[in-house]
Amino acid sequence: MKQAFLEVVFLKCPKCGNVIIEPSWFSDLEQDIQCADCGESFSAKQNELDRKVIKFVLGEDGKAGSISFE
Ligand SMILES: [Zn+2]
Repeated sequence: MKQAFLEVVFLKCPKCGNVIIEPSWFSDLEQDIQCADCGESFSAKQNELDRKVIKFVLGEDGKAGSISFE
């Protein structure tokens, strides 16, 4: 059984409070992000709420069989 992982961060817009989920490298590389709701640009790293690792269990054919939090 093969597994693949994707770490995501939960970012909160400092202007309107909208929560955005992005791959964690956005925050690790200190990228700025634009809120889809209000258009505010802000630092991903400074507005990080939480992060989670999503685990994909892959079938023999390489397709995702199930998805869960690690
Ligand atoms: Zn916003």
